[in-house]
Amino acid sequence: TKITEHIRNANGKPIFSIEVIPPIKGDNLKNLLDNIEPLMEFKPPFIDVTYHREEYIERPMPDGTIKRIITRKRPGTVGICSAIMHRFTVDPVPHVLCGGFTRDETEDFLIDLHYLGIDNVLVLRGDPAKPFNTFKPKDNGYSYASELVEQVVNMNHGSYLHEGETALAPSNFCIGVAAYPEKHLEAIDFETDMQYLKHKVEKGADYIVTQMFFDNQKYFDFVDKCRSMGITIPIIPGLKPLSTRKQLSVLPRIFHLDLPEDLVKSVEACESDAQAREAGIEWCIQQCRELVAGGAPVLHFYTMGKSDNIMKVAGAIF
Ligand code: FAD
Repeated sequence: TKITEHIRNANGKPIFSIEVIPPIKGDNLKNLLDNIEPLMEFKPPFIDVTYHREEYIERPMPDGTIKRIITRKRPGTVGICSAIMHRFTVDPVPHVLCGGFTRDETEDFLIDLHYLGIDNVLVLRGDPAKPFNTFKPKDNGYSYASELVEQVVNMNHGSYLHEGETALAPSNFCIGVAAYPEKHLEAIDFETDMQYLKHKVEKGADYIVTQMFFDNQKYFDFVDKCRSMGITIPIIPGLKPLSTRKQLSVLPRIFHLDLPEDLVKSVEACESDAQAREAGIEWCIQQCRELVAGGAPVLHFYTMGKSDNIMKVAGAIF
């Protein structure tokens, strides 16, 4: 079932959903699935599974040179999607990246998803491959998510990359894209970023998922801005309860967001991370209540491998 249908079927009642990250290579998938199992109580109709492209490790060699080794730390997105479908009968949403793929590789990837009966994808450009800080597409790959949206739309119309190839049974993917209420790091300014978002939506996106934020006003202003630009598709807020004192500095740096002063004060007043975790949960519950009252269609949680805090938040809302 498509995410947009899930939203329609909910008839204005908020939906609970989560994002999971594949385990580090070699780790047992069972731990991940056992960890999210309690969250099934809140009946998520869909679960996102992130995708991680190659990273580079720099290893000092005995002769003093640095050897750069390509690694792929978290493979398994498609397998995890399939495991989720079997174990929980929930719709998986694999993330599909531009970075690290040629167009043909992406086509093969999408065909596999289609054969598995997966109806949804979240289309992303991907971050620059670590340790670099500028994004570089693969030869014959894409530079922007909007281009990959176009490829998925073409496939939905039965049109493949190479002339003369037609689909036996065209795919019918519901396409999600990412957006940043506090601006994407690389964008020159908010307005330019929004114009590119509009372009991405016009290419055929069906819904938007936002980067995490801790100040609801940022989400509400962002939704208003989208609507004023003629972007009418659902906008799903991405949420994460703050969980350690260190995240006060880490989250703004990694995700380029502002933390509201009240949240910072309440976490700074905590004497332990256990207390900070409770403060983060409390804040997130208040955020969720306000978002639901403000008409957010889904509350989408970034689990980052943990579920106890999300359990508490969801328990207070759903
Ligand atoms: P785009 O929409 O392509 O935008 C990237 C930048 O380019 C923006 O600054 C935009 O303003 C600009 N831009 C867009 N179009 C143009 C154009 N035509 N010309 C010039 N500039 C343009 N990363 C992963 O690696 N794996 C994941 O699973 C993953 N999941 C995510 C889930 C969510 C909900 C979010 C919000 C992010 C996720 N990310 C993930 C991170 C994401 O890949 C990065 O934020 C990435 O830097 C941007 O991806 P995008 O799809 O938003 O890019």
